Amino acid sequence: PTMSVMRIASFGAQGRGRLSLQRTTSFLSSNRVEYRASTTTSERERAKSVAAFYNQPAVEAAAKKRTVRLTPSAILYHGRTDDEATTLKSAQYLQKELPVRIAKRIIAFRDLPFIVGCNPIILGVHELYLRAFNILNSFETIKTREDEVNYSRKLKELLEDHQNVVTNLAAGFRECRRHIQNEELVVRFLDKTLTSRLGIRMLAQHHLSLRESKPNYVGIINVAMKLKEVIERSCQFVSRVAEHKYGRVPQLKLSGHVNAVFPYIELPLDYILPEVLKNAVRATVESHSEFEMMRLPPIHITIASNEIDFIIRISDRGGGIPHHLMDRALEYNFTTANEENSDSTQLEGRVFSDMMEAVNPNPAGGPMHGFGFGLPTSRAYAEYMGGSLEIQAMQGIGTDVYLRLKHINSPSASFRI
Ligand code: ADP
Ligand code: MG
Repeated sequence: PTMSVMRIASFGAQGRGRLSLQRTTSFLSSNRVEYRASTTTSERERAKSVAAFYNQPAVEAAAKKRTVRLTPSAILYHGRTDDEATTLKSAQYLQKELPVRIAKRIIAFRDLPFIVGCNPIILGVHELYLRAFNILNSFETIKTREDEVNYSRKLKELLEDHQNVVTNLAAGFRECRRHIQNEELVVRFLDKTLTSRLGIRMLAQHHLSLRESKPNYVGIINVAMKLKEVIERSCQFVSRVAEHKYGRVPQLKLSGHVNAVFPYIELPLDYILPEVLKNAVRATVESHSEFEMMRLPPIHITIASNEIDFIIRISDRGGGIPHHLMDRALEYNFTTANEENSDSTQLEGRVFSDMMEAVNPNPAGGPMHGFGFGLPTSRAYAEYMGGSLEIQAMQGIGTDVYLRLKHINSPSASFRI
């Protein structure tokens, strides 16, 4: 393990900035020989960058500060007037806030058990966070419009660099979780890291979107979101992925309050819905042999919206989840997809489709299943948004997933981003 730490750390020192998993892993496997013959210069670099993982007084100082989390309505109303002063203020908030949030995450990486913390993939993510911290923390104080433009450009780049973080964490923990006795610890780390990442991405995206002034949007808030359209977008996406993988797709039928329109943030829905739909489609296809092609039972999606929250139920006839696996379905890295036929062994796709922000759209649209991250991450996101994700299975028939989310303009919306 120490060698891995060294290798990956020195790779980071030489790195020209972006560190992607693909590059990291291929580097680790293919350049091994060449690496042993490294010069004293690179040994010195290596020592320097290993120290960089724990000699970070700025991180420690930032991590001690309190985060300032905003209510969705605060985000909505502060963004109302789309003038320069608003954008500037928004950037100044991020400049204060992001380093604090990132620093707290870095400390959490350090607190991981040794065997986990030095897994090369997890270490790669850790390093990505350190790099983001250093870039954002050393950015000159934003005073002018020009500063704000530069800051926003940097922010956009960082969002792209961090695209694959969820997939990398899923892959990293899959490799080393058999060494972990304490399941609680993994759950706590991942829930927090993943939801914090969602929060950071929403804030950063909000700021970047504020500058674009799209009709019907205040930053990332769609002030008149048609829930039906958001769900249909996920259905089309998942159908395309399934068509590619299985060559057949059950019908996806929408009913209930299909005309519901309200202000909401699409980003978390664009993560959660495809994951839940992929599971329903996979169960349906796998529990019906190809000869029954004409008879794939449809997946029913029912929407309800009331003053307090909105609920999406996704109902499939894919046979349900066996009793003894019910509790495990929501565990990180639990999957019934075996490793060889899993789409994730190649590490090509992403756990999440990132439909809205794909920089390298994968024609297959990411993996159908395989990391066992879909449900636990979706539940963590739902809870972060003040809601819940619950599973009811009728063993032998099918599964119902209930996604409940609080309206952002309801008086009881108590969550903060
Ligand atoms: P993955 O899809 O990568 O396996 P998930 O977290 O999305 O990971 O799901 C974990 C497991 O829960 C799946 O492997 C599957 O066994 C089970 N599961 C999830 N949704 C359903 C469903 N709708 N029907 C049957 N089993 C399901
Ligand atoms: Mg899944």
